[in-house]
Amino acid sequence: MNMKYDVTSRGDDTSNEIAELIRKGLNEHQLQQDEQEPEIVISVGGDGTLLEAFHKHKHRLQHTCFVGVHTGHLGFYADWIPDEAEKLVIHIAKTPFQVVEYPLLEVTVRYHRAGSSDRHLALNECTVKTTEGSLVCNVEIKGEVFETFRGDGLCISTPSGSTAYNKALGGAILHPSLASMQIAEMASINNRVYRTIGSPLVLPEHHTCLLKPLNDVSMQMTIDHYSLVNKDIESIQCRVSDEYVRFARFRPFPFWKRVKESFIGE
Ligand code: NAP
Ligand code: MN
Repeated sequence: MNMKYDVTSRGDDTSNEIAELIRKGLNEHQLQQDEQEPEIVISVGGDGTLLEAFHKHKHRLQHTCFVGVHTGHLGFYADWIPDEAEKLVIHIAKTPFQVVEYPLLEVTVRYHRAGSSDRHLALNECTVKTTEGSLVCNVEIKGEVFETFRGDGLCISTPSGSTAYNKALGGAILHPSLASMQIAEMASINNRVYRTIGSPLVLPEHHTCLLKPLNDVSMQMTIDHYSLVNKDIESIQCRVSDEYVRFARFRPFPFWKRVKESFIGE
């Protein structure tokens, strides 16, 4: 049985061309494109394109793995250059590859309407703001109220998402081997009345964080590149997911090297 693959593209001409090249190459090696049940997903574009590929296939994470080709700047998820496309095709077709697993964030939104909830999976992060005014919410950690947050919002990120929005908020960069999530503040109000911890917090597996809104406003949430507006929220629960995302690894490209090449330069 030949391996089934899917190729996704950012949609610009360059990405489409590279995607087509990869498709042709894989077909020549008798691999079959299968958009529904691929064992490997090749995303061509940027990190945003890989986020989309992840969400397209997130219901089958145990059966598929991802690899990203960047047609713009070096990405964290998209770390192959277009010139390597043919090499990548041969790797995929000919060599058994290693798989690395990165932790994900599970977000459960519960509504005041009895029994109603939504579950989301994030590869980068979940952010919570309101559509107008400050976010006012209790932050519970492991069932205990930790603080009352008042400010622009909160960002709860995965380790591989720590280099994205989280970094812009002054959060730490976490190595994806740490099964954890990070809570970073967006402009918290700190004075004699309102007090938050101020520092980003890193929580391990099984330490659930619960955000409980204290005012009745619409919540503006994001899960990776998706944005949702929700009313009537009782709580937003975040924890390290039991599920992992799997990346195909054909050569070493250590995380800290990607951090250096992305943010410091070569
Ligand atoms: P976008 O506006 O194109 O993304 C913003 C930038 O974040 C892009 O340069 C994107 O890379 C990069 N990026 C995505 N995931 C990353 C990661 N894990 N590590 C380092 N950089 C990463 O929108 P998008 O491409 O759909 O990506 C959605 C993400 O944008 C969100 O998950 C959030 O993390 C991020 N974001 C950041 C800020 C901020 O830094 N102030 C604000 C809002 C959203 P590509 O160009 O390769 O796609
Ligand atoms: Mn993008």
